Amino acid sequence: MGPHVIIIGGGFAGLDAARVFAGAPVRVTLLDRHNHHVFQPLLYQVATAALSPGDIASPIRWILRHQKNVDVLLADVVSIDVASRTVNTDDGPLSYDFLIVAAGASHAYFGHGEWEPRAPGLKTLDDALEMRRRVLIAFEAAERETDPAAQRRLLTFVIVGGGPTGVELAGALAEIARHTLHGNFRHIRPESARILLLEGGPSVLPTFPEKLRTAARASLVKLGVEVRTGVVVTGIDSDGVTAAQEHIAAQTILWAAGVAASPLAKSLGVPIDRTGRVAPQPTLNLREHPEVFVAGDMCAFVQDGKPLPGVAQVAKQEGAHAAKNILHAIRGEPLEPFRYVNYGNVATIGRGSAVVDIGPVRVSGWFAWLFWLFLHIFWLIGFRNRIVVLTEWAWAYVTFQRRIRLITGTNGLKRRSQM
Ligand SMILES: Cc1cc2nc3c(=O)[nH]c(=O)nc-3n(C[C@H](O)[C@H](O)[C@H](O)COP(=O)(O)OP(=O)(O)OC[C@H]3O[C@@H](n4cnc5c(N)ncnc54)[C@H](O)[C@@H]3O)c2cc1C
Repeated sequence: MGPHVIIIGGGFAGLDAARVFAGAPVRVTLLDRHNHHVFQPLLYQVATAALSPGDIASPIRWILRHQKNVDVLLADVVSIDVASRTVNTDDGPLSYDFLIVAAGASHAYFGHGEWEPRAPGLKTLDDALEMRRRVLIAFEAAERETDPAAQRRLLTFVIVGGGPTGVELAGALAEIARHTLHGNFRHIRPESARILLLEGGPSVLPTFPEKLRTAARASLVKLGVEVRTGVVVTGIDSDGVTAAQEHIAAQTILWAAGVAASPLAKSLGVPIDRTGRVAPQPTLNLREHPEVFVAGDMCAFVQDGKPLPGVAQVAKQEGAHAAKNILHAIRGEPLEPFRYVNYGNVATIGRGSAVVDIGPVRVSGWFAWLFWLFLHIFWLIGFRNRIVVLTEWAWAYVTFQRRIRLITGTNGLKRRSQM
C-alpha cells in the first residue's frame, strides 16, 4: 500500500498537497472538521448577500473523488503526538508515516477574546451567514425604531481592519446601503447609513504599493465610507466601539483585523511565533521531526528576509511543495528547499473598482475590477460555481441587486440587544 500520509486541513494548502499525490504509491488520509473546502477570498460576498454559501464552497470528498488513493474523513483534530506519530481526532487516534499540517488560521482579537461576540470575524461559511444576518437585521431594526438616536446607532456599521477583507466588506456594505436597499424601506433611508472603516496602521491595504493604497482609499471615500487610519480600537461594548478616545455608537461591528494560526501548531512542540505559526526548515519540514511538514497560514516561512503573507497562493505552493518533498523522501532523494513565486496581489473595493499589483502592472479602477473578477472566476473550484458566480455578478452589476438578502437563524429583532 505504501507509506501513510495524513493531511490535516482541506483548505488551499491541504488540497494542493493531496493533488500532488495523485497516482503516487502512497495512502493519503485528508482530515477536515468541515466537509467542504471554502473559497475564502469570496466569503465577504456571502456576508454581504451577493452570493450563496454553495457558490463558493464544494465538498472535499467531491473535489478529490477521482483520486483513489485519498481517503477523506470528516474529523476534528484535537492534538498531534509527534513522538508516537499519531494524530488524535474527536473520533480516535490515527497513525502516520508522514504528516502535513495545514489547518490554517483564524481571527484574533489582540488579547481581547471578549470582543468576539460583539465583533464577529470572517473565516467560515457560518461566520459569513452570521455577518449577513447582523447586517440585514440592523436595517430591519432601524425601520421599526422611532427614537432618532437609536435609529442612528442601528444604521452605523463599523469595520475594524483595513486589509483586503475590511476594504471589501466596507465597499460592499456601502453598496448595499446606497444602492441595493434604496427604496425598499418606508421609515428609514438606508443610504443614510454610516459605514466606518477603522485601521490601526497608517493606510488601508498596507501590502499594496502607495499609489494603489491611495486609489483604494479614494474609491472607498467615493462610496461614502468614512476611512480612519492610525486609529486603534481600545474597546468594544454593547453600545459600540471606542477608538482614538472617541466612542462610536454602533449596532454592527465587523472584525477584519488580527489573525492567529490554528492551535494545533502548539501541539507540534516546536517554537511558534507571535501569531502562533510554526517556522519550518527551508524544506517545509521540522528539524526535530523531518516526517512532519507545515504549509499555508500555519507556516511562518521567511523568504529574502521577509515573512511570506497569509494568502492563498502561498498556501497552495507550500502545500504542493510539502507533498513533493514527501515523495522525494519516500524515493530516498534529497528534499528541495521551498521558494515562493509571487504572481501578485489583487483586492476589490465595491462595484467596478479594484486594485491590481502584478509585477510591473499596478492599476486601479474598472479594468482592474474586471481582471479581479475573471481571476476569481478562474480560481473557483467547480464549473457550476464558476457559471453561477459569473451569472450572479452580471445580474448584480446590471440591477444593483444582491439576491441573497435572507435573514436565517434566530429572530434577531427580538434578540437585538444581545448582538
Ligand atoms: C475573509 C478572507 C478573505 C481572504 N481573501 C483573500 C484573497 O483575496 N486573496 C488571497 O490570496 N488570500 C485571501 N485570504 C487568505 C487565504 O484564504 C488563506 O491564506 C488561505 O485560505 C490559507 O490556506 P490554508 O490551507 O493554510 O488554510 P485554510 O484555507 O484556512 O484551510 C484550513 C482547513 O483546515 C481545517 N481545520 C482547521 N483546524 C482543523 C482541525 N483542528 N481539525 C480538522 N480540520 C481543521 C479547516 O476546516 C479548513 O478547511 C482570505 C482569507 C479570509 C479569511
